Amino acid sequence: MTNSTYLSKAIILKRSRFKESSCLCRCITEDYGLLNFAANGTYKEKGPLTGVLEPFNEVDIELHRSSGAGLYYLRNAGLIDSYMIGIDYLKTLFLCAAGELMLQVNYPIEDSQDYYNLLKVYCSFLKTTTYHPFPVFIRYAIRLLKLLGVPLDNNCAGCGSSQVTAYCVSQHGFTCRACNPSQDKPYASSECSYSVAEKQYSYSDTLTLSDKTSYLVANIGNLKSIDKDMITNETLEEIKEIINAHLSSSFHKMFHLKSIDDCGKQFDKTE
Ligand SMILES: [Zn+2]
Repeated sequence: MTNSTYLSKAIILKRSRFKESSCLCRCITEDYGLLNFAANGTYKEKGPLTGVLEPFNEVDIELHRSSGAGLYYLRNAGLIDSYMIGIDYLKTLFLCAAGELMLQVNYPIEDSQDYYNLLKVYCSFLKTTTYHPFPVFIRYAIRLLKLLGVPLDNNCAGCGSSQVTAYCVSQHGFTCRACNPSQDKPYASSECSYSVAEKQYSYSDTLTLSDKTSYLVANIGNLKSIDKDMITNETLEEIKEIINAHLSSSFHKMFHLKSIDDCGKQFDKTE
């Protein structure tokens, strides 16, 4: 059996304790996609890796793995940047949401660099931006959907109009009032279902947008035009539901964004 060495840049997305003094890291890498590696001795006091393997740190890693064996082991790691240090609580939540979304997608290893760069650019931008993190996160999600080959255009899927008033699962995008007459029908009449692992899920085919969400969607290309008071708990819930519905109906598995479940409540606090 031969040993193989893997060198890459990586962003740590999750870290958990593994055996007595080791940890298991889930990360996105520039060269090998999403992977897990174990690091020994990281829970010992003041080791060489103290502070290096924290969530949303970007690191240079050297991994090794016996051929055929599943788990990678860390040989060396060097810190490049820390994206979570020095940011406020709301930004932290949206950083976690981006990681949470990335951990749920599948993509070919050949495309590793594109996905890695998407997350890296988002992390760097979020760290320094003075814009509200929510629209910044929406733009990240839209770019991720495009990379995944299931683009979510902010114009009407039917006629291209920029005046969208609903998200329609069966049309796979936003719709204007003229293109989606079902938006005014009672909830039950527009219900759809799909199956995941032999379980049936039903959902509303049409999610009618509040005025603020319509505005947010239409102006997502121009962060300057999005005023803080356009961002509410309601807009968060609607956008979250749209991202989940778009992904779940495209890939026939359930997606979730638990990390921003309570985010909307934070919006009022930060006023
Ligand atoms: Zn239309």
